[in-house]
Amino acid sequence: MRDMVAQVMDRVVPFVGALPEQRMHTMTGGKKLARWLREPLPEDGAPFDKLLTMLFSRVFPATLNTASPGYLAYIPGGGLFHAAVADLVTLSINRYVGLFAAAPGLVQLESNVITWFATMAGMPETTGGLLTTGGSMANLTALVTARRERLPPDFLRGMIYTSTEAHHSVRKAALIAGFPEGNVREIATDDHFRMIPAALEAAIAEDRAAGKAPFFLAAAAGTTNTGAVDDLATLARLAEREHLWFHVDAAYGGFFLLTERGRALLKGIERADSITLDPHKSLFLPYGTGCLLVRDRESLRRAHAVAGAYMPPMQTEDDLVDFCEIGPELSRDSRGLRVWLPLKMHGAKVFRAELDEKLDLARYAVEALRAIPDVEIAAEPELSLLAFRVRRPGLGEAEIDALTRRVIAAVNLRQRVFLTGAVVKGRYLIRMCILSFRTHKERVDMAIEDIGAAVAGC
Ligand SMILES: *Cc1c(COP(=O)(O)O)cnc(C)c1O
Repeated sequence: MRDMVAQVMDRVVPFVGALPEQRMHTMTGGKKLARWLREPLPEDGAPFDKLLTMLFSRVFPATLNTASPGYLAYIPGGGLFHAAVADLVTLSINRYVGLFAAAPGLVQLESNVITWFATMAGMPETTGGLLTTGGSMANLTALVTARRERLPPDFLRGMIYTSTEAHHSVRKAALIAGFPEGNVREIATDDHFRMIPAALEAAIAEDRAAGKAPFFLAAAAGTTNTGAVDDLATLARLAEREHLWFHVDAAYGGFFLLTERGRALLKGIERADSITLDPHKSLFLPYGTGCLLVRDRESLRRAHAVAGAYMPPMQTEDDLVDFCEIGPELSRDSRGLRVWLPLKMHGAKVFRAELDEKLDLARYAVEALRAIPDVEIAAEPELSLLAFRVRRPGLGEAEIDALTRRVIAAVNLRQRVFLTGAVVKGRYLIRMCILSFRTHKERVDMAIEDIGAAVAGC
């Protein structure tokens, strides 16, 4: 065991150390690599060091460098090493956390994490939840719980409301939960890409008049396209008046609640019936760590508890939880320690300072971008995500889009930062999301420099 871990550390430490200098993407030859890797189930074993060499020399380099400080695409994660160590421990001891009785302490540490997050969001003591693999599973579990709570068994009249800017996992959740596509209404957004409450009210009224059953509102606390935060306080009031389940998808923006500015911006989130968080985004943890909070934790049990003859008795005390009863999984990863350990080792204040830095960097970046001729800011940073495009006098919309696409390609070719775009309201925008704990001012300056050069050269 010691030898295996030592060999791994000999490779991982230099690899992680070199992240800032590694190329941002080395994607050519990917299909060839994938086909070269195919082989039948081996009958005989191979030496560990040979396998490690193959992984580190062939497989890992041919990737998008999502852990780099220059990764400003999509929603960056990071991957705190402390979480990897926590996983080494939990996977090594391999205890079962589906049932409280099988590992009471481990289950409680995971419950602590849920309670910390609920407190951060200003949710009441009745709140419960679970760690999921990501935001998509959290959104799905929220929708299934609301469906069970608010609709009859024949639920096909149930209507779901979200904005045109919502993450596609909301529509995917509706599809998996058995709703026809037409039952998801995407409400228009304003100039700041926030859901228009009056448009939502009109849609609800129209649906009620048509005999439908409005029941679920998914608001966004940080959209993936532009980082927009819906007016949560207004939407919370509206949801209450209309008897809708109020869900907040805070997969990107959620942990900014640790900061003062984030708390002010996300005001109203404390009135949610459920909240999706993604510790693998704004808490810098490795991929595969999501979270769902539900205001009435008993509703999770009502939506998911099913008996099995071979199962032991479940906990009946209100403050104890069997995770297998409140979510879709029976056997599951022990996800608690990978969240618990980094928070215990650093304390919340380290995360708060990191997130405050990202808020500052996004404001710094937008001012620097504004100073580049031909750059037009399309979305000011509310959190740490901004969007812009490139235009020149005399160019039509299609030419502006094409120019903007050339600029993003030229920036990415320089291999110091990686940006992605999105078509928003029919226009192609370049997004910049500053979220990795490894991204600091120096790298943002490189981004600005490369964008400036690309704009001048395109
Ligand atoms: C990333 C994201 C999701 C999906 O979360 P995964 O963890 O990728 O499954 C949902 N909503 C928003 C707003 C997101 O940014």
